[in-house]
This record gives sequence, structure tokens and C-alpha cells, in this order.
Amino acid sequence: MIAKFSDLAGKNILITGASRGLGRKMAEVLATQGAHVIFNYRGDESAANLLKEELISLGASNATALLFDVTNTVQMKEAVEKFIESNGAITGLVNNAGISKDQIVLRMKEEDVAQTINTNLTSAIMLTQILSRSFLKAENVSVVNISSIVGLMGNASQIAYAASKAGLIGFTKSYAKELASRNIRCNAICPGFITTDMTHALDEKVKDAYLNTIPLKRMGDPEEVANLVCFLLSKASSYITGETIKIDGGLYI
Ligand code: NDP
Repeated sequence: MIAKFSDLAGKNILITGASRGLGRKMAEVLATQGAHVIFNYRGDESAANLLKEELISLGASNATALLFDVTNTVQMKEAVEKFIESNGAITGLVNNAGISKDQIVLRMKEEDVAQTINTNLTSAIMLTQILSRSFLKAENVSVVNISSIVGLMGNASQIAYAASKAGLIGFTKSYAKELASRNIRCNAICPGFITTDMTHALDEKVKDAYLNTIPLKRMGDPEEVANLVCFLLSKASSYITGETIKIDGGLYI
């Protein structure tokens, strides 16, 4: 079931990491709301064009693909500033792109830790900073950071990932406090175990162990997360900021 938020129609909303998984579903659901969906891609132009066509056919008022890697701040700044120059302010941002490089503490490599923190946390902070000047001149701005339940509860073999996701929560609360007087909101979502490539990659034993600990006894669907993202981007959540919302089937009650 897709929830409808009429004020998202025509809103310029940027989602990172929309090529697949949760981000793709968010882009599709935002398209059905009539938003102008902006997403980044890392080089596969034909896949980006296909996604654009799909989003338009789903009802997006427009769809724009921007070429940038979230860890390349210069490329990211150029792409989003060029977009704003010709299309006006981006008023919705979903910091979703993320990676996990799971390893037990003794086997962790410094470059994997750095890549995880850069992709999941530093990029979100930098992209939000880049957009902040135009946020200040816009109305109804909402930023949604995709954290994770492991950012709250921790997880063995996910030290860097959990640290990056916990960091996103601190960033969310600080940004919310700093920009609230300008009516700019910022919230974090902590998904539990949702069916995407990231969770397909998990060992079957790990998956079974998780399923046994989820009170709702199933993995989440990307559409369920997308609905929550739409709610937080829309005026329906206008009095919610600095919040961290779990969407995990009760995994971390
Ligand atoms: P996927 O692995 O399915 O997709 C990751 C997305 O991030 C892809 O679009 C990928 O692009 C993009 N990405 C990764 N690195 C970069 C980069 N350097 N620059 C630009 N884009 C990049 O992940 P999910 O959809 O499962 O996860 C999405 C978010 O949700 C992540 O932040 C994840 O941590 C979080 N999350 C997911 C959960 C789950 O159960 N699935 C649970 C909790 C949180 P490309 O195709 O180019 O690689």
C-alpha cells in the first residue's frame, strides 16, 4: 500500500543511491506522488536513463539524473549547484547511499573503515552542507537520513558500519537543532532487516538468526520504508524534527 502525500507533487527531491534497493523504491514511490525526482548515478548512463523513463511513467513531474559519486565532494557540489541554477532549490533530500564491509574487529582493514565512514556518513554531511545555502532560501525543506537499527543497537562484525550509522543520528539531531529556526527539518530512519541486495548478501544463518528475533516474523519491504520517507518529506510531518524513527518489525523494542 502506497501512502499519498499531495504536497510532494512538483517538489524537487534528491535521493542518493537510487540505482537499486531501498533508494530505488523511494524514487519510484516519490514518482507516484508526482515529485521531481533527482537521483545520482556513478557512470552507467543507460541505466540512469532507463530509471528516468521509469520514474516519468510512474507519474514523476520530472526526473533528473546527476553524475556523482557521494565520496567525491567536488563532483557532487558541481552537479547539484548546476541543477539548482536551472531548476531552483532542492527542498527534499534523502541521504540513502550506503555500503557495508562486514568484518570481525581483528580483520578490519583501515581502508574499509575509511570507505564505510566516507560513504555512509561524511558524504551525507557534505551533501547536506552543499545544499544548505539554498535550503535557507526555500520553504518546507526536509532532510531524511537513512541510518540503521544497528546504529542504535550495534552489531558484531559491523563496527565501522554501525559507527557510521550512529554518526548519522548525531548529525541529524545537530542539524535539526541548528536549522530549526529556519523551518528546515531533519530526521533519521533506522530500518531493520529489509529485502535488498545488501541483505541478500548476508549469510543464510545470519538471516535465520535475525528472523527469529523479529517480533513481526518477516523482513521488511522497501515500500514500507519508502512510505515513511515520503511522510517525513511531506508537510504531514511538519512538527517532527531531530527524530530517529525505527522501522524494524519490532526487532529493537
Ligand atoms: P544497496 O546495496 O541495495 O544499494 C546501495 C545504493 O547506494 C546503490 O544505489 C549504490 O549505487 C549506492 N552507493 C553506494 N556507494 C555509493 C557511492 N560512493 N556513491 C554513490 N552511490 C553509492 O543498499 P540498500 O538499498 O539495502 O541500502 C540503502 C541504505 O539503507 C543504506 O544506507 C543502508 O545502509 C541502509 N539500510 C539498509 C537496510 C537493509 O536491510 N537493506 C537496513 C538498514 C539500513 P551503485 O549501484 O552505483 O553501487
